[in-house]
Amino acid sequence: MAAPSESGHSSTKSSTAFGPPFDDTDADIILRSSDRVDFMVYKVILSKASPVFKIMFSLPRPLTDTPQESLPIINLAENSKALAALLSVIYPHTTLGPDEPLSLNDLIAALDMAKKYAIATASRRLLINFKGSKAINDSPLGAFCAAYSRGLGEAAQIAARASLKYRLNLDNIGDALEYTNGPALHRLWKFHRACSAAAVRAISGVNFTWIPPAPIAWWSATSTMCNCKPRYQYTLGAQKSSWVANSSWGGYLDRARNTLREHPCSGAITNQAILRPSYQASMCDGCRQLICGLPEFSRYLGEEINRVVSNVRGLLHLS
Ligand SMILES: [Zn+2]
Repeated sequence: MAAPSESGHSSTKSSTAFGPPFDDTDADIILRSSDRVDFMVYKVILSKASPVFKIMFSLPRPLTDTPQESLPIINLAENSKALAALLSVIYPHTTLGPDEPLSLNDLIAALDMAKKYAIATASRRLLINFKGSKAINDSPLGAFCAAYSRGLGEAAQIAARASLKYRLNLDNIGDALEYTNGPALHRLWKFHRACSAAAVRAISGVNFTWIPPAPIAWWSATSTMCNCKPRYQYTLGAQKSSWVANSSWGGYLDRARNTLREHPCSGAITNQAILRPSYQASMCDGCRQLICGLPEFSRYLGEEINRVVSNVRGLLHLS
């Protein structure tokens, strides 16, 4: 990425003003974006936010053909959307108009710029925006590859976690393959595999300490008249109370484990498609009443999966 430069060649091509809130008449410097939009800003605010700007402003102003009456101009490599996004999170009391959401490229450029200028506060706030962005929601894989290739570790982590809602197979990656790179995809694949391993491990035993007592006797109860076979034996909750369950519950847990092997997220084990076979199995009337609690049980299971997966770290460390 090109280094910023103070320019004396500003008059050769026209530029446009960004306008409010970066249009103060007593501003003391102009930041010019790559698409030639001028932001009139105060050095003191930039210096306070960024040690890089502070050093830059402390250096003597180079001799240029900028007219003496003009404000100094710093040409930047980023476009006006990225620059506006960055300035709006470091400028006090600034809200930009209800613009269209930032594209993935603009968000990444703003994050990259915050890193380049060592603006920690902006990085944190931009990461919050990034986490809730349309780009992350629509294309976490693309977001991951973009963040990874720029060495934006925290953004890559956020995107990698968001990508868990999809299976990481070629059918799902599809056209995005064109924009991914091998090392990034490999790193993401390792992360998915580690999350899957943690998720499967979490529900592979017979002790489900994270399941609280059932609000209604859906689980933790066994129909006394029941002869349904086979039966599964579990312990539940911190008290390790014993629970003998019929095959509808055991079958559900088997399906959940199989699904988590490829798709380690709560949504994969709480949807109707994975619950339905448990309702369709043959069972006694007592068991049929108890199986009504399966969606609630699956939600507890999903929460536990999210918890263990959120503890999977380290594989995305970017050097
Ligand atoms: Zn039964």
